[in-house]
Amino acid sequence: MLDQCRYNRRTMRARQFIPEVQRVLEERGEPTYRLGQAYAALTGSLVRDWEEATSLPQGLRRTLNLEAPAAVLDLRRTWRATDGTRKYLFYTHDGHAIETVMIPEKGRHTVCISTQVGCPMGCKFCATGLLGIKRNLNAREIAEQVFVAARDIAPERVSNVVVMGMGEPMLNYNETLGALKVLNDPDGFGLAARHIALSTSGLVDKIRRFADEPEQFHLAISLHTPFEDERRELMPVAARHTIPELMEAARYFVTRTRRKLFFEYTLLAGVNDQPRHVEALAELLDHPLYHLNLLRFNWTDTGFSATSKRDAREFLRYARELGLSATLRPSRGQDIDAACGQLAAKDLRGRPQGMAQPVAITLGE
Ligand code: SF4
Repeated sequence: MLDQCRYNRRTMRARQFIPEVQRVLEERGEPTYRLGQAYAALTGSLVRDWEEATSLPQGLRRTLNLEAPAAVLDLRRTWRATDGTRKYLFYTHDGHAIETVMIPEKGRHTVCISTQVGCPMGCKFCATGLLGIKRNLNAREIAEQVFVAARDIAPERVSNVVVMGMGEPMLNYNETLGALKVLNDPDGFGLAARHIALSTSGLVDKIRRFADEPEQFHLAISLHTPFEDERRELMPVAARHTIPELMEAARYFVTRTRRKLFFEYTLLAGVNDQPRHVEALAELLDHPLYHLNLLRFNWTDTGFSATSKRDAREFLRYARELGLSATLRPSRGQDIDAACGQLAAKDLRGRPQGMAQPVAITLGE
């Protein structure tokens, strides 16, 4: 009975994730179980060419390669930083560039993925925000970024996925969640939900919806300042949702899930790194499940500059002294411009193809 339930669940997920494969199978009159085999080959064996899917008959593999290719993203280039960080440049079938970063740290391998081509949120310190939005990525394009990174680092395994690359994932909610469910699916990629985190600039309705999802995914909210007027300056989304509204949604999330909630805070020199900011944060984030993630700004051409290392450490020290649970995240992959900062995506600005150069990427909202 359990096997039948699991079989049905896998078939349903496969129908949503690879509808074009299902169409080909139906046209050929293939038995239903072939869909599950194709799904397992893509999400478990991580095939990028149906010829690698040896559980499928040869004729079917050939047809699938022609009519529903296993890879939907074209991996154009990979960079490797001296600290082990890797960055992948992909092109979508309609010619858009997106990037993905893999960060090795203390035996873990975290993959940071994108959910949109560009981003409409317009955060002032983020180069992606300056580009505007081209389109949403679909679930397959989102999940495939992880599959490629996983193949690349094998036999090591991907231990964490963070949805902190290009785009506001909650504006592409259904496709993003569809991808995360496949990544979490024991019959798919099989990564535990607690190893998957999504970051949002603060769309309160979606934060509540996310809290109601059955999976135990983690959530991070980009705060960047505890003051309303400053937040409106830095993040246009703040005009839509005030900080009290945001904190109400945050409270809903922790009450509903009993999970730790992360607040992302990029330290910008002279803008949001003063003692008064720490003091206001200590009041705002006074909850045992709240955690403040500090990050020094990585330079991009947005007019901001980074808080010095010394001042950042002092900010952290004062935050802890005032009782906040807080950490200062190190920057990674700076020599290939893959550090937490801004996804400049020069390719999105129409740089001629074949001239790929390192670009900077946002690893945090
Ligand atoms: S910080 Fe995140 S939400 Fe804001 S513009 Fe950049 S990618 Fe979009």
